Amino acid sequence: MNIRISAGSAARMGLMHLKSDAPADTAYLLHGASCSMNCSFCPQAREAAGLNGRLGRVSWPSFSREAMLKGLQQAREQGMRRICLQAVREMGGPGGLPELVKQVSSVGLPVSVSSLVRSPGEVEALFEAGAERVSLALDVVNPRLFARYKGGDFMERLNLLLHCARCWPGRMVTHIICGLGETEQELLSCAALLVQEQVTVALFAFTPLKGTALQGHPPPDGAVYRRMQAALFLLRKGAVSLAEMKFNEGRLVSFGLEKGQLRQQLQGGAAFQTSGCPGCNRPYYNERPGGFIYNYPRPLTEEEIEKALEPVLSCC
Ligand code: SF4
Repeated sequence: MNIRISAGSAARMGLMHLKSDAPADTAYLLHGASCSMNCSFCPQAREAAGLNGRLGRVSWPSFSREAMLKGLQQAREQGMRRICLQAVREMGGPGGLPELVKQVSSVGLPVSVSSLVRSPGEVEALFEAGAERVSLALDVVNPRLFARYKGGDFMERLNLLLHCARCWPGRMVTHIICGLGETEQELLSCAALLVQEQVTVALFAFTPLKGTALQGHPPPDGAVYRRMQAALFLLRKGAVSLAEMKFNEGRLVSFGLEKGQLRQQLQGGAAFQTSGCPGCNRPYYNERPGGFIYNYPRPLTEEEIEKALEPVLSCC
C-alpha cells in the first residue's frame, strides 16, 4: 500500500521538487485512505468535500513504500530529525499501523505516531513496534465544543491520555487547536494539567479549510495566539504556574511575572517557534506563505521577536 508524504517532507527526501524557504525537519507521513471520523476542522473527515489529499494547509502526494524508505534514509543522512507518522482512523481500527511503524523505525530516526488510539493496549502496540512517542490528539479543549466538532466525550479522551502518560512518562504527546471558541483560560488550564503530567503539548492555530464544516470559522487572533504560545512556553519551563496567572472572564490578563522578568524568560523567541516533539517544525501547516506566521518553523529574527513580544508584554 502506498503512503502519503507531506509535500515539504517529500521534497526534503528527494522525492519531488518544491521550492521552500522553510525545510521540514521532520518527515510527515500519512497512513490510511479514508477516515471514519468526522472532525469539523479536518479535510480528511468522512463528510469533508474535495480536499482529501490535504491535512492542515499541506498537500500529501502518494509514494510507494520502497520510495519512502529510500527517501527517509537519504533525509536522515542530510539531517532530518524525526519521522511523524499520522494515521487516519479507518473502519475496523488501526489496521497495519504497527507493522508500518516497525518498517519506518528501521531507518534509525525517532518516530512519533499520531493516531486515534482507543485503549492503552493500542498505545502499547505502537511503542512495542518502535514508536518513540505516541500522540493522542485532544484538539478541542472545551468539552461542549469537543462533542460538537470531534464527536465523543472529552473527559474520556483526556482520561485515556492521562492514564497513558502515567504508564509511559514523557512519551505521550497531544495536539491542542487554538481558535475553536474555547477561552484562553480553558486552553491554558488543560495545557497546564498536561504539562504537569509530562505530556508534550503541540499548539496549533485553527486553520479554516475549504470543504470542511468549519471553512467559514475565522482563524485565531494573532495577539491571542502569541499570548497562548508564551504562556505554554512558561508553563513548560516551570517559570510560572497556572495559579500565578490571572484571568478575567476567561481571558489571560497577567502571566504572573513583572514585565522585565517576562521579557527575560522569553528572550530568544523560542516560545513562538513550532511546539511539539523535538525536531517537529511543521512548515506552513497553519500559515499561508507571506501571511501571519503562527508557528515559526525556524529561529526568529530580532525584529520578529520584538513583534511577537508586543501583545505578550502589553498583557501584564
Ligand atoms: S508534535 Fe509534531 S512530530 Fe509530534 S506527533 Fe505532533 S505533528 Fe507529529
